[in-house]
Parts: sequence; structure tokens; C-alpha cells
Amino acid sequence: MLNCDRLQRRKARVNMEGALVARDQVGIQDFVLLDSITSETAFLDNLKKRFNENLIYTYIGTLLVSVNPYKELGIYTKKQMENYMGVNFFELPPHIYALADNAYHTMLTEMNNHFILISGESGAGKTEASKRILQFYAVSCPSTSLLDRARDRMLVSNPVLEAFGNAKTLKNDNSSRFGKYMDIQFNREGEAVGGHILSYLLEKSRVVYQNHGERNFHIFYQLVEGGEEETLRLLGLERNCQHYCYLVQGGTLNTVNYKNDWKTMQKALFVLGFSEKETEYLFGIIGSILHLGNVQFEADSKGYAHPLTACCILLQLLGVHVQVLQEALTFKKIEAKTEEVLSPFSVDHAIYARDALTKALYDRTFTWLVNKINESLENKDSTKKTVIGLLDIYGFEVFYVNSFEQFCINYCNEKLQQLFIQLTLKSEQEEYEAEDIEWEPVQFFNNRIICDLVEQRHSGIISILDEECMRPGEATDLTFLERLEERLGNHPHFVTHRLADQKTRKTMDRGDFRLLHYAGEVTYCVVMHQAKNSIVKHCFPPTEADSKKRPETVATQFKSSLMGLTKILTAKEPWYVRCLKSNEDKQPGRFDHVLVRHQVKYLGLMEHLRVRRAGFAYRRRYEVFLHRYKPLCPATWPHWRGVPADGVERILKHLGYSEDEYKMGRTKIFIRHPRTLFAIEDAYEIC
Ligand code: ATP
Ligand code: MG
Repeated sequence: MLNCDRLQRRKARVNMEGALVARDQVGIQDFVLLDSITSETAFLDNLKKRFNENLIYTYIGTLLVSVNPYKELGIYTKKQMENYMGVNFFELPPHIYALADNAYHTMLTEMNNHFILISGESGAGKTEASKRILQFYAVSCPSTSLLDRARDRMLVSNPVLEAFGNAKTLKNDNSSRFGKYMDIQFNREGEAVGGHILSYLLEKSRVVYQNHGERNFHIFYQLVEGGEEETLRLLGLERNCQHYCYLVQGGTLNTVNYKNDWKTMQKALFVLGFSEKETEYLFGIIGSILHLGNVQFEADSKGYAHPLTACCILLQLLGVHVQVLQEALTFKKIEAKTEEVLSPFSVDHAIYARDALTKALYDRTFTWLVNKINESLENKDSTKKTVIGLLDIYGFEVFYVNSFEQFCINYCNEKLQQLFIQLTLKSEQEEYEAEDIEWEPVQFFNNRIICDLVEQRHSGIISILDEECMRPGEATDLTFLERLEERLGNHPHFVTHRLADQKTRKTMDRGDFRLLHYAGEVTYCVVMHQAKNSIVKHCFPPTEADSKKRPETVATQFKSSLMGLTKILTAKEPWYVRCLKSNEDKQPGRFDHVLVRHQVKYLGLMEHLRVRRAGFAYRRRYEVFLHRYKPLCPATWPHWRGVPADGVERILKHLGYSEDEYKMGRTKIFIRHPRTLFAIEDAYEIC
């Protein structure tokens, strides 16, 4: 049925446009198919040549390379979507829609689960790509009016999560400050029936502190600048961002028109089914965070902190009693043998406690929001579904000062690179060996060593951090650094100020350690934000230290969630979009050769190309291949009684393929070029 649809559409297009093959003629649209691409320079020249003609997409086999144009190209129209529906790769110029469509049809044909891994550094275009894919499915998948609601909800989950989870950074005006994995669920008919979102480590420190030139999460500005008069009045807010300490740390703000974003987000909450009360509470929290940031303290004669401002509206919005809040901000509870003792804070500690409370509040609100959206996207019907997962996770980033969040973000990118290596480069080579296919191994850098450095049990950085956190009162940022030096001093990817050679030392501070990531060097500052706060406090903010059971450290939680993600992904068929940043200044149409070359290098695109070129684009178990294509050959139709491999060979010979176009492995058939497979698939559709 689906194949019929697909054929109909293709025929229609042939009639309309006169020719099915409408390829662009600029440079090479797939690095694999043509022979001249062997060097990195040639690779870059090809990308640039295409980029200059506004052709931002190029394939390496089925991997899509995308170069951020920083301008609207008019290539995401409904007409374009229709063009790409039901078309094989290589029939039309490379496009994100082609990849989305192929993942979708493969899922339906093979009834299995897929994921699209979108990677690249901050500002490279990952979130844009994931939005385009979602929009494509919203238009291209069949639907009923009942399902339109599910589809609309999936679409509008984006503006809500972006409002609360994205912010302007130096790298990107709309930078995702959380990782997002979204499953889109399809029924047997190919209709999008539901979804589920997993979010990863929100950069909650941003809510209380922003680096120079950066901003807090969009939602705060949307509310203050775009919120209705009545909303602001109820929240006791002024329409002036400059008035709020949490909004001005990054320096002066240029006004951006947040009014439309506010309206879009409000509408989205409504479509997602948030009740009026829930929306009210939600903005109550956002408002109270702004008030919290303005709470100042003064020291009494003993040096103990007292809040200067008694903010009634804050108590009202949070729904807590004045005493509860005051104690939370100015006292630490210490459990003595039989009773609880309240130990007063100094002003510095009170500020720290206030910020810790704010961060926890925002973080938990974000989690609540994701859960609410998931309830809204959930499909309760128990029939079998297949999924396409979209992974849009924060990109590798290097700032002037890199703290704990950058450490986690970059660790996450190491993990994803490792997954990519395992799924493509390594497994590809291993498969050729297992299948006895003649093969010239390709050398590639395996970043396993860096993943181990961070996550290995007992000896990795996270384990050492955990151990230090188990010694409250004794451990400090500097003892943590010393432990790292003791245990990891000889590691080739790790260096500290003390261990560094003279030249390197000049580029580091005493409280720094540096990791040589697969994507480049990053220096992390152990002494985070406020020098007086020890790492122990960072891991166990006062609010959480109260609980009887010591919680896992954030780093360990993050490590476990990444392990979970790896598990989810390895059970699915991968598709890749590799996003490249064209320049650092967000300039339309400028191609910075050095910057792009660096990304091509660390993303392993040349290695990937070499593996693809040396190898085979398509492989299937003999039984599967035979089962699908047996109608193409009289000898195999309707039944083939011999060994499956012989049946497959009969089909290929019958179709006239020569032996250099495919190889017979132990259990699988390997086909060199995608075009051979597409020709077979065409024959199948027509027969
Ligand atoms: P981060 O890791 O910081 O979240 P990202 O990779 O998700 O970064 P995006 O937010 O997708 O980056 O892209 C940054 C900006 O680049 C967008 O806001 C948009 O202005 C521009 N951009 C990205 N992709 C495209 C595209 N295909 N066409 C036009 N502009 C684009
Ligand atoms: Mg993003």
C-alpha cells in the first residue's frame, strides 16, 4: 500500500517535471559516489563551492552534512516537502527532508526503530535541523483529524521547551541549554500518533549567573517584555529587565522583540492542554525567581545574614510561609544527636543559599514541564508502534571560562562521538572481518580513551569527584584538584597548571585542569563562579544536604543518564546529520575555511568517507534480501528451495549486476553503491 503511494507520487513528479533525476550540478552532492575526493582540501573545496551557491547539504552515503548558512534560503517550503516525499536518496539534491523521508520509509518497510543523531558544535544548526525534521513529518505523514491533535502538540512542544531551556550565549542566540531526545511514535499505517521527550542536564546555573554578553533563559525576557499588563501586575513585576539582578549579569541588554515569542508560547501551552491554574503557577515561579534574585542581605553585629527586603509577593507566589523562606535563606540545619540545630549563615552563605534555591526551583520546574508535555504527547493505545528518535543535544563548547556545565556538555559529546565510532567506523570494519569480506582497514582516532578518563569506575574524573564529595568538611576544590593530579597526572589527555610545561602553564590558572578532547583542548576551572564555595557545596547545595540519604552527585546522575541514552540508541538503526558552523560571527553566507576544516577533522568526516568509499553502502542478511526481492526473478519466485545466498545471487545475476557491484559475505549480501540498491528497489516497486 505504501509502496503504491510512493510510486504514485513519483510518477506524478515525473509527469510534472519531465525527469525524475533533478540533481544539482554544483560540485559533488555525495562524496562517496565520485572518485576525485581524496584529500581534506578537496573535501572542503567541495563544501565551499556548494555553500557559495546556497547548497548547504551534501551527503557522505546516507550521512548528511549540513553547513549553517545563517540566512533563510527558502528551501523548507511545503512544495519542497512534497518533492521529497517518497523519493530515494540521490534522486533529488541532498536535503534534510530526504534523510527524514528515508528513515521513515525504512522504518515502515522493516518495521523497526530508528534514530537520527544530529551533532555539531554550538550554533551549528542542530536544533534547526531537528525542527525541520519534525515539521516534515507533520506534513508528510498521513493523518486523521483525531491525530492532528497529537501532531500539533508535538510541534508546539518546541516553542515551550525553547522558552524555558534555550538562551542567548556568545556562540548562539538561541542556544539549547539542555539535551533533548524525542521519540516520535508511528502506528502501522505510518501515522504519527504520539511522542515522548527525555531531557538531559539543564544548565541551571544560568538562572542565577550569566557570563558577559550572555543571557538568562528566554522565558524571563518573554515574560517581562511580552507579558500582559495584568499578568505583570499579579506577579508584582515591572516591565523592565534591568530591574532584575538575575537578568543583567551578562551586561547591557539590547532589546529584542519578545512579544511574539510570548504569544506563541502562551498558545502552545494551551494546545498542550495546560490548565489556567497550571499556567498561573508556572509563571508564578518564574516571577518569584526574579524577586528572589533581588533579595539582598545585611550582616548583623555578629556577621550573620538578615534579608534586607521582605518581599510579600514572593511568599505569595511561592506559597510558603515567611519563616520557612527566611530560615531556608539564612540558616543551615544541622542534625545533632537528638535535635536539629539551626546554624546562621554569613551574608556570602546566604547569597549562595538563595542562588542554590533558585537553581533547584528552576530545574525542578523544567522537569515538571517536560513531564507535563509528555503526558500531553502520550498515546495510550497499546497497538504496536515503531519510533524515530531525534537527538538534539548541546554541542561541544569552549568558552573563556569553562565550568562544570561545560565539562558535562563536552563529556556528552565525547559519548556521542564514541557511539558514532562504534556504530559506523568500528562496527563497519569488524563486520567486514566477520563476513570475510576483503578489506583495507582505515585508521581513525578512537576517543574511548577520553570517555574512560572521565567516566571510568574508581579512576575516572567523576569517580574522583564523588570520592571528594564523600568527605564533607575536609574536601575543597583544591584538594579535588590534587587528587586529580595524583591519580591522572600521567594521562596523555589530562594536564593541570602544576603538571604543565612552561609554555602551557602560561595559558592556565592554578585552579584549572585541561582535557584534550577529541574536538580540541578545553581548560576547566575547578573553582567555580564564587571562589569561596567549595566543590562539596556545589554538589550538595544546602537544600539537599538536609535530606537523610545523600543524593548522587550531579556528575554521577549525568553519567547514568548518558549510559541510559546510549542503551536507547544502540537498540535502534542510526541516521546521522553532521552540522557544521560556517563562521564564528553568525554572518550570513561566510565560509571560514579554518573553522570548517577543524570541525571536519574532529567530527571524523574524512574517516567516515574513507570507510564508506572503501566499503559497501548497503548490506542485508540473505534471508531478508531474498524475502523482499524474490519476485524479481522467475527462479526464486514464489519459492526458492536452495540456500538463501544462492537465491540472492540468482536474483542479482538475473537483474544483470556484475560481480564488482556486490560481494557475498558469510551471512549477508554487500552492495557497493546506493544507486545499485535503488535500481533494485525501483524494479521491485514496478513489478
Ligand atoms: P546549540 O548547541 O547552541 O543549541 P545548535 O546547533 O542547536 O546550537 P541552532 O540553534 O540550530 O544551533 O542554530 C543557530 C542559528 O543558526 C539559528 O538560530 C539560525 O539563525 C541559524 N541556522 C541554523 N541552521 C540554519 C538553516 N538550515 N538555515 C538558516 N539558518 C540556520
Ligand atoms: Mg540547539
